[in-house]
Amino acid sequence: MANVFELTELDGKIALLTFDAPGKKVNTFGQPVLAELTEIVTQLEAREDLQGLLLKSGKPGQFIAGADLTELGALMHATPEQLGESMKVGHALFSRISKLPFPTVALIDGNCMGGGTEITLSMDYRIAADTPKTKIGLPEVNVGIIPGWGGTQRLPRLIGLNPALDMICSGNPITGKRAAELGFAFDAVPPEHLIDEGRRLIAYARESDDWRKRRAELALPLGLSEDQLHFSQATAEGYIMGKTKGQYPAPIVAIRAIMKGANLPLDEALKVEQEASLEVVGSEISTNLIAIFFMNTRLARDPGVADTSIVPRDVNRVAVFGSGLMGAGIATSHARVGIRSLMLDVDDDRIADGMKRARKVVEGRIKIGRATYDDLANMLSCLDTSTDKSHVDDCDVVVEAITEREEVKTALYKELAGLMRDDAILASNTSTISITRMGKSAPHPERFVGMHFFFPVDRMQLVEVIRGDDTSDETIATIVALSKRIKKTPIVVGDCPGFLVNRVLLPYMNEALQLLLEGASMDAIDKAALKFGMPMGPIALQDVVGLDTSYYAGMTMVNAYSDRAILTPLLKDLVEAGRMGKKSGSGFRKYTGKKGKPEPDTEFTPFLEKNRVDNREISQEEITQRLFLPMFLESTRVLEENIVREPGDVDMGLILGIGFPAFRGGILRWADSVGADQILKDLEPYTQLGKRFEPTDMLKQLATSGKKIYE
Ligand code: NAD
Repeated sequence: MANVFELTELDGKIALLTFDAPGKKVNTFGQPVLAELTEIVTQLEAREDLQGLLLKSGKPGQFIAGADLTELGALMHATPEQLGESMKVGHALFSRISKLPFPTVALIDGNCMGGGTEITLSMDYRIAADTPKTKIGLPEVNVGIIPGWGGTQRLPRLIGLNPALDMICSGNPITGKRAAELGFAFDAVPPEHLIDEGRRLIAYARESDDWRKRRAELALPLGLSEDQLHFSQATAEGYIMGKTKGQYPAPIVAIRAIMKGANLPLDEALKVEQEASLEVVGSEISTNLIAIFFMNTRLARDPGVADTSIVPRDVNRVAVFGSGLMGAGIATSHARVGIRSLMLDVDDDRIADGMKRARKVVEGRIKIGRATYDDLANMLSCLDTSTDKSHVDDCDVVVEAITEREEVKTALYKELAGLMRDDAILASNTSTISITRMGKSAPHPERFVGMHFFFPVDRMQLVEVIRGDDTSDETIATIVALSKRIKKTPIVVGDCPGFLVNRVLLPYMNEALQLLLEGASMDAIDKAALKFGMPMGPIALQDVVGLDTSYYAGMTMVNAYSDRAILTPLLKDLVEAGRMGKKSGSGFRKYTGKKGKPEPDTEFTPFLEKNRVDNREISQEEITQRLFLPMFLESTRVLEENIVREPGDVDMGLILGIGFPAFRGGILRWADSVGADQILKDLEPYTQLGKRFEPTDMLKQLATSGKKIYE
């Protein structure tokens, strides 16, 4: 491997160490890099003549991205001893850096993550670039581990217990300016001044002997009282448990390591960190989260088509038909990234409602400090509205997000034939209707495609890009590229009723209603799903999605998969009574309070009683199995029919589209962890309920061969 470090000397005997992995976009720490750094540190340890050391990256705007996750992924199969050894290498090296015989300064320009942040923590000073690209963080908890090269012990000593807890447990990065405010960085300066400022800092450190004092101080225990420690631990754990419901152990392990090490000398505290790391590295949850990281990376690079010579078309202006729940969100997503968007609906009142929704998306983000009023103004300046369809004549892409009724949609397509530009792409946000069939009514079937967003659009990351029989590669590549431009993750899927996500979700949603009619309470059903890790229970989700949407989608599924899909008459009754869910004020629950919070509704009872089929006690275990087993079985059918290109598409589709719990790695990884044999046994009590619980060929083969889906 070519060298990644270059050691040069500046005037005044200051060493400048530049990290620049050749041919790579980012610098990462893997075993060869650590080995090379170890040799350099050995040389530096003998250089008592040096005045100081500056560490920088050779890649502008990219400092060090952290550990090489491919290596970390490989470590998942290592024994605890091997894991312990591998961690010790980094620890030992960074400890040696912290003891070099001269002051050391990290010059941070750009992304500085994980091990990148930890190496800077082992140095005496840090100066950060004041650019928006400079993000400094310890995101290890996001892949189910904790900072393992000193971060949990050095950071609290540097910036204090609570800010360190916040950075480590949230995994959220801070900017260069914030780093300076917190005392993490000595200063935040323009990137072109970093070297000069670094030299000046070394001169100051030597003159004042500040570097030796800092080293001595930072090696001491934090000296907090027992009460302070208990209070901080209880607050931090309470907060994290509230957010993660205990399903993500890494932040809790990090908190305990921080607390246990806080009042120890640094050398001993670092040992605490090593022991704590071993609790989480290689765990099933961490393995799942790392797998998700790789699946995400693959999707981010996926052009959506096998032929890599296909070039996506330029998209400058987008029209969105429908300003309802979805249309407003879709138009806003485009406008937010500066793509000129036109939102259309049938009358001004609906447009006004759509604009309210659009504003709310950004206003909500302003409230939590994730957006500014400038962002709102910029978004609004890119968003036009109209009731006049002829205004779509200059749009490159037209997204249709109107009522989920095939005849209504195809009537619009026919009208659009004379109005859209001849080379424009028409994309439908339909949840369930066949793209191939609707494409026949589109002006150009080869430029007709599914672009299926999820509710709420601003928060759900996924876009299913659905390829109809006639859809061209260029159309797919353009919609995939456009989806990435609006910061979504596109997954290309084949055309089948429900596509990927709804096809797999609806058996779960319908089973929830079946359970309700057999005697389970709404709360018990929602609770079982939440306990499994879903962000929202299926009954609550019905109300949010809209019962009409759910009903029409269910009808499509029943028609398409009549051997196994079920749809209780309850949904129809509720829709006919105008109970559409949250948007109409009532559905399964009522939403009449000021904040639109769900409340039990006695007016729902007659609907339940009319359709009830049983009234028995149903255990939480049965509820959980009956919700998730049909979801899994449908996923195997999706694989059998090649609706997706690989199992990872199913798992990422569900994680990003419906918030399937990431710590389980997706429904297929979850099934792998349960084991095909066990799933067959779990299905047995329910097979009499119908085909929806019958083992699929794929499941039977997995059980016979003893193989896993991911092998
Ligand atoms: P909605 O009822 O909130 O909004 C639909 C809007 O389309 C209404 O404002 C209506 O006036 C307008 N409309 C109807 N015909 C029109 C026409 N000819 N021209 C212009 N506007 C017209 O519905 P929604 O929930 O936003 O769903 C829209 C589409 O998105 C449906 O195809 C649905 O299946 C799909 N979808 C919905 C969800 C969801 O969770 N609600 C999720 C994914 C996809």
